[in-house]
Amino acid sequence: MADTGRALIGAEWREADGTFTVYAPATGQPLGEVADCGPELTARAVDAAAEAFPAWRAMPAHERADLMRAAARELAARAETIGAIMTAEQGKPLAEATGEVLSGADHLLWAAEETRRLYGETVPGAHADNRIWLLPEPVGVVAGITPWNFPVSMITRKLGPALAAGCTVVLKPAELTPLSAIAVAEAFVAAGLPAGVFNLVTTSRPAEFGAVVMADPRVRKVSFTGSTEVGRELIRQSAQDVKRLSVELGGHAPVLVFPDADPVAAARAVARSKFLNAGQACTAPNRIYVHSSLAAAFTAELVRRAEAAELGPLIDERAVAKVTRHVEDALARGATALTGGRASGGRGTSYPATVLSGVTDDMLICREETFGPVAPVLEFDDCDTVVARANATPYGLTAYVWTNDLNRTIRIAEELQFGMVTVNGGPLAPPQAPFGGVKSSGYGREGGHHGVADYLEYKYLSVGLGR
Ligand code: NAD
Repeated sequence: MADTGRALIGAEWREADGTFTVYAPATGQPLGEVADCGPELTARAVDAAAEAFPAWRAMPAHERADLMRAAARELAARAETIGAIMTAEQGKPLAEATGEVLSGADHLLWAAEETRRLYGETVPGAHADNRIWLLPEPVGVVAGITPWNFPVSMITRKLGPALAAGCTVVLKPAELTPLSAIAVAEAFVAAGLPAGVFNLVTTSRPAEFGAVVMADPRVRKVSFTGSTEVGRELIRQSAQDVKRLSVELGGHAPVLVFPDADPVAAARAVARSKFLNAGQACTAPNRIYVHSSLAAAFTAELVRRAEAAELGPLIDERAVAKVTRHVEDALARGATALTGGRASGGRGTSYPATVLSGVTDDMLICREETFGPVAPVLEFDDCDTVVARANATPYGLTAYVWTNDLNRTIRIAEELQFGMVTVNGGPLAPPQAPFGGVKSSGYGREGGHHGVADYLEYKYLSVGLGR
């Protein structure tokens, strides 16, 4: 493993006063020591990003794109190595981890191409001697804060659009998965990105990092992905300096399987999105509403898929305790575990793929984000009221619908209060699509040209042609 005890600040890999230990969830064994940066080093990282900003912003778009493409190539070339690091510190299967690195490289490539499309606008003038233009400008220095569940893609989804827009970045990865982030930073250095454009600050004290970047007027935007609780705190802090903020927060995704759908195809797709990353995804289905006429066929296939799923361990003991609490609450209130249903025990933090039937809306699992491999199935008969049940959550990230009825597709998609609606499967996070939520799932979009626009200000320029 590379030397990981240092933080990337400007052109240098700097040592901090102390380090913290990263552990493998599969074994509980230590994996490495990482720089534990305090407020002083965070401030130096902001200095470096602020110094690098004018030249990065002024660099012609195609040159910025060349450097970003080189970084994408470096990342892709290291996919297996970085994937192995991710598997060790986060626990997901190697194929998922390697795939995530390759998808991260793809997001960077897409954003690189977008640099050449940072168009402004010409707007009709207010009178004959007036011209009006809108000029896209990068917001400035950006602080990024990322979670542990997708340790590489969460970073590249912030870095890609920020760098494309002409911003420089100080990034703080989750303290549970800093080794993947260090490996990403090494790829950017190898690609020749100018010093200070991307700075990486690892720390075991995230609130101190947050306080420094929120208080520094040079940081013009904070992009956060993580829990709704921390997101709320950052929203409060951002008021002080009126900072731009993007917050991608928790989710509680409903799945609606209508009577005209193919129950086997639906169950297969639900199993894929439910058991990916052992259910530790903000987009994971959390309430699976199945029409009672399809329930038997649907659950039989879901159980088959659950029993064949390849799952890594959960991130830590707390995660196992939360999943256990949700499942025990459901079982105590009358649900049945068709497969799984109790922690595997032994070494590590494993929990088996679980399917619960007989679940009702009042159970804990239907109200709190589980973040584990448990698929709760709720039956319904009334197609008219099920959408209201799906919407009855403070979250609004993603919803899944299964139907072949065109009218129903359009009506339901419009009624669902979620940032993303997937009908009959389909990928959720390709680089060209704006990923993000509404309500307590946050605001801001990552991906697509809307994602790049989140890092831009449109300056309104009015020119009089005074004669
Ligand atoms: P978390 O909020 O505990 O941590 C996320 C990041 O915030 C970490 O880097 C952490 O160090 C940092 N952090 C914690 N306290 C902070 C503070 N006071 N100030 C500044 N930074 C602070 O979340 P988590 O447990 O790592 O991630 C899981 C959550 O993330 C889930 O709720 C999940 O739904 C959500 N998530 C959302 C998306 C999305 O796009 N909407 C994607 C992935 C994960």
